[in-house]
Amino acid sequence: MVLKNKKFKKTVSILGSTGSIGKSTIDLIMRNPETFDIVALTAQTNVKILAQQARIVKPNLVVIGDHSKYKELKNSLLGTNIEVASGKEALNEAAGRKSDWTMVAIVGIAGLLPTIQAIKNGQTIALANKECLVSAGEIFNQKVSHYNAIIIPVDSEHNAIFQVFDFKQKSKVRKIILTASGGPFRTTNINDMRNITVTQALKHPNWSMGSKISIDSATMMNKGLELIEAYYLFPVNKNAIEILVHPQSIIHSMVDYVDGSVLAQLGTPDMRTPIAYSLAWPERIKTPVKQLSLSEIGELTFEAPDTIKFPALSLAREALNKGGFAPTVLNAANEVAVKKFLEGKIKFLDIVKTIEKTLEKLAFGAPNSIDDILLIDQQARNHVNSITK
Ligand code: NAD
Ligand code: MG
Repeated sequence: MVLKNKKFKKTVSILGSTGSIGKSTIDLIMRNPETFDIVALTAQTNVKILAQQARIVKPNLVVIGDHSKYKELKNSLLGTNIEVASGKEALNEAAGRKSDWTMVAIVGIAGLLPTIQAIKNGQTIALANKECLVSAGEIFNQKVSHYNAIIIPVDSEHNAIFQVFDFKQKSKVRKIILTASGGPFRTTNINDMRNITVTQALKHPNWSMGSKISIDSATMMNKGLELIEAYYLFPVNKNAIEILVHPQSIIHSMVDYVDGSVLAQLGTPDMRTPIAYSLAWPERIKTPVKQLSLSEIGELTFEAPDTIKFPALSLAREALNKGGFAPTVLNAANEVAVKKFLEGKIKFLDIVKTIEKTLEKLAFGAPNSIDDILLIDQQARNHVNSITK
C-alpha cells in the first residue's frame, strides 16, 4: 500500500466523529489530507460539530442519528453537495458504505449494528468501541471470520497488545498483562467512596475522554470491560489475562512469553498514537504526540488492583468466566447505571451494586444471534430502570 501516492487515496469512514476518539481521528486525517478520501461521518446529536467537520473533510455522506436534527444538519450544509441523512437505519447504511477503513467510535451497544454492517463489507475496522465486543463477543467474532473483515483494536491497551502479540506463536504466550491507571480514586479511602460526585468521577488523571468511559474508569468497570474485550480479541485462555495497576499510563500493556520475554508497548498517553497505528496499519504515520521521555518521567510504578474497593473488576471477571449472556447483561446494566449516575439519579457506589443485582436476575443462557443479544440487552436495561426508580 502506498499511502502518499495521490492515486491511491485511502477511503475512510468515521462513525461517532463528534466524540473524543472521533475528533482525534479527524485531527490525524487533517494532518495528512492528501492521503485520505472521506466516505461518511456520523454522530448522534451534535449537529454543530458534525457540520463543521463535514465542511472541512468533505465526506460523501453525513448522518445524524437523532431524526429531529435532520433539518438543522441539512440547513448547515446548504451549498455543499454532501448527502445528508438521519436515523438508525441511515447510521447502519453509512457503516455499510464501501470504504477501505472504518473507525467505530460510537459509544455503547449502539455501535453494534453499525459495526456488523461494516464487518459484512469485509472492511478493515478500527475498533475503539469496546461495548459491542463485550456484549456480542463470540457472535461478533464469527461474523468477522465469515466476512473476512479485519479488526484493529484502538483501545490503547488492546492496541498495545496487538503490536506485540506474536499471532504465529500464540501457544507460546503465557499471559497478557493489561495495565490500568487505577482511575481518579486509586488512592481514595474506601470510606470516602460513598460521596463521590459526578465532577470528581469525570476527572481522569491521565486521559481526556467521553463521559461514559470516564465514569467506567472511575469504577474500574472500564478495566473489567477491557478484560472481556481482550479475551475476544486475542487467542488466550480466560485466566491468562491479568490486570496490573500502573498509575503513569506509560506502558499500555504487555505480553508475557514462555521463554521469559515480556514485550510491552510504551508511549505518552494520547489516543492519537493507537488511532494513527490503526489508520496506517500495516505501515506507520507521524503524529504530533509528545515524544516519550522516560528520564523526564523518572519512575514507573505498579501495584495489584484493589478488588475490594473496585468490585467491578470481580464482577467482570465472573461474567467472563460464566460467558453466555453474562457479559451482555453486565454491559447493558453498566450503560444504564452510568447514565443514571451522570444524571444524578443514583450514587457512585450504586452503579456496581445495580449491575450485580441485574446479573443475578438475568445472566442465564447464551445467545444464538445478534437479535438474542439485543433482546437481553433490552431486558437488562428494563431491569435496571425498575430497580433504580
Ligand atoms: P464520546 O462520548 O466522546 O463520543 C461518542 C460518539 O458516539 C459521538 O460521536 C456520539 O455522537 C456518538 N453516539 C453516541 N450515542 C450514539 C448512538 N446511540 N448512536 C450512534 N452514535 C452515537 O465517546 P469516546 O470517549 O470518543 O468513546 C467512544 C468509544 O471508544 C467508547 O466505546 C469508548 O469506550 C471507546 N474508547 C474511548 C477512549 C477515549 O480515550 N475516549 C479510549 C479507549 C476506548
Ligand atoms: Mg483502554
